[in-house]
Amino acid sequence: MIPYGRQEITDDDIAAVTAVLTSDFLTQGPRVTAFENAVAAKVGAAHAIAANSATSALHIACQAIGLGPGDLLWTSPITFVASANCGRYCGADVDFVDIDPATFNMSADALEAKLIAAQKSGRLPQVVVPVAMCGQSCDMRRIRALADTYGFKVIEDASHAIGGSFAGAYVGRGDYADITIFSFHPVKIITTAEGGMALTNDAALAARLRLFVSHGITRDEGQMVGASEGPWYYQQIALGENYRMTELQAALGLSQLDRLDAYVQTRRQQAAVYQAALADLPLTLPFDGPETASAWHLFVIRLDDAASRRPVFEQLRAAGIGVNVHYIPVHLQPYYRALGFNPGDFPLAEDYYSRAISIPVYVGLTAAAQLQVINTLRRILT
Ligand SMILES: *Cc1c(COP(=O)(O)O)cnc(C)c1O
Repeated sequence: MIPYGRQEITDDDIAAVTAVLTSDFLTQGPRVTAFENAVAAKVGAAHAIAANSATSALHIACQAIGLGPGDLLWTSPITFVASANCGRYCGADVDFVDIDPATFNMSADALEAKLIAAQKSGRLPQVVVPVAMCGQSCDMRRIRALADTYGFKVIEDASHAIGGSFAGAYVGRGDYADITIFSFHPVKIITTAEGGMALTNDAALAARLRLFVSHGITRDEGQMVGASEGPWYYQQIALGENYRMTELQAALGLSQLDRLDAYVQTRRQQAAVYQAALADLPLTLPFDGPETASAWHLFVIRLDDAASRRPVFEQLRAAGIGVNVHYIPVHLQPYYRALGFNPGDFPLAEDYYSRAISIPVYVGLTAAAQLQVINTLRRILT
């Protein structure tokens, strides 16, 4: 089976990880700090806090902002459930903003319309989580302008988008988002097995992210209530978690980061091959806008005929092509249905879902395997 995505592990990666096993630190050592600094330097952010997953990073981002019961978080229905769940972990309510069908991202027009309505009804969101779907940045300039007008914080879920760019700058530089989140799950652009990171240019938010990633404990006397009692002393000043990344993960991430630009380049080439080879089929190809350069975590085709999605999907799987669907609209998950969401609430997201198939794109996808994907799709759809 040709998977829809998978990691690449090199001899350098293996050497970097095995070296950690015989070093002094398996966790809480120098490699996590080095990985944080390297990612921050790469994308141009001031601060980076590593975590054991992007899900954890999203959670501490909400905590750092102070999201709590009675508050409201909005995100896109077309995302992994973690983009919404982070609000629920904090006891906040979650709502969704429908997508722009051209990009599959949260529509800035729909966001503005919903904000105008929310202001009238007296309940604006505290946090909005735009998701850089497939590696393509959202319209971050407009989302930032809306954040400044309506007073919410922006947590950009860029789990798909490390190495991608918006308006000429790497995603994560923090020109528009208060906090940007990366995922290092094996199907993402670079991997640490499990892992994530929160980036920000705001020193106060960075200090709070640092606190929540490790129990709410500080060793910084400046943060303590009263004076330090000695060199051993620490204080728990908030209720945090143990979401720390290990040294093994950080060593893998540091090694992988060296190949980030080459990886994204390879994905862009594969995307261009699909764009040319599938253009005449009865489907809509993904669109990369003039201001964005996608990292192409996913390559999603949308079939003209939604009724054929399941049979086409099954024929592709039967032919050894490990296609997938990203994503089932989050508001249609039973957990969210039980909170009051219904089919029809976000019609553009639901229409997208009914037609979408993710086809393979990853660094180890050979030209021959990609041709097999193309030929199989052409055989099924023509
Ligand atoms: C993968 C993913 C996450 C969660 O990442 P983990 O590192 O697996 O926790 C969150 N949001 C989006 C959009 C993702 O694709």
